[in-house]
Amino acid sequence: MLDISRTLVDLTSDLVAINSVIGNEKEIADALFGVFAEYEIATQRVKNSLVSRLDFGKEKTIALIGHLDTVPKSREEQTRAKIENGNLIGLGTCDMKCGIACALKILYEIKKEIIFPSQNIVFVFYDGEEGPLPNGITRLLAENKLQNIDFAYILEPTCSKYSIGCLGALTAKLEICGISAHSANPILGKNALSEAAKIIKKIEETDKKIRKPQKIDGLSFYETINVTQLTTENASNVIPSKANLTINFRFSPKRTLENAKEFLFSIIDKNLIKTLDCANSCFVSADKTDVFLRNFCEKEIMQAWTDIAQLNAAQIPAINFGAGDIKLAHKPEEFVNIANLQNFYELLKKHV
Ligand SMILES: [Zn+2]
Repeated sequence: MLDISRTLVDLTSDLVAINSVIGNEKEIADALFGVFAEYEIATQRVKNSLVSRLDFGKEKTIALIGHLDTVPKSREEQTRAKIENGNLIGLGTCDMKCGIACALKILYEIKKEIIFPSQNIVFVFYDGEEGPLPNGITRLLAENKLQNIDFAYILEPTCSKYSIGCLGALTAKLEICGISAHSANPILGKNALSEAAKIIKKIEETDKKIRKPQKIDGLSFYETINVTQLTTENASNVIPSKANLTINFRFSPKRTLENAKEFLFSIIDKNLIKTLDCANSCFVSADKTDVFLRNFCEKEIMQAWTDIAQLNAAQIPAINFGAGDIKLAHKPEEFVNIANLQNFYELLKKHV
């Protein structure tokens, strides 16, 4: 049984000790379901995603949201968090079990009448964030479990800044065809890799052109397009008849999905694309954030895609706001600085 009366650091360590590598979130979801049951809060569950509402009859409702999964662990000891030099080290400490610990601590302090919230609070913990869409947020939205939320904070690591926008992403898988032949007689064939090389060169040239600092409301970000995979399935003495190439385009919050696609199709032949995965960018304008954000936190645009895009697309204004540094996420020695975690918790309390 998870004991949410423990300190933030202990609670984070307890969450790290529950292995929740993506696809394996049942145990941690069960544990949190148990916590809500213990505090007699009704919880809705969709697969391993949970939604629990604390309704105080207030005018506005905020959501505190965290994903339960981590990336795969590279070493067994990663699920035993340890403290070194003021940092709590372990898989998911930064991304994002420290955020879940903060949400649980808020719940505990409300229940113990240490915090008196000025808004209704919805706790959302979901599965499948570290993999391709759809994930827990997609499923919760599809089943209308996230209604009546005025503003959402996803507790992803942001170094206590407000990430009020994120980049969109297009992932195109291309199939490039050639003609196979014995590699001793290449003139009888057409090398699919040579064709792929031309596309790679074009993508690199495009990236050089677009990877320049841009700003929205004074907040910086940049667009970038890259080749991320190239494979063939032939023997080493055969001119390949097929090459599979993956292109990943991270695009500006200023672009619509349609506009991003048009841009991609202006660089590569649309007919070569076998699959195209799309994720919207987003930017939360000041009129939607003013009531909920405080002027003592800096704002930024996240140089990545996150689930705030899914929420904003569903008309739920959402930002990322959490302890920990996103640059440490997915690293084998990820950690959260304990002082920063405690500072973040003090900030978060000012938002409920
Ligand atoms: Zn995360």
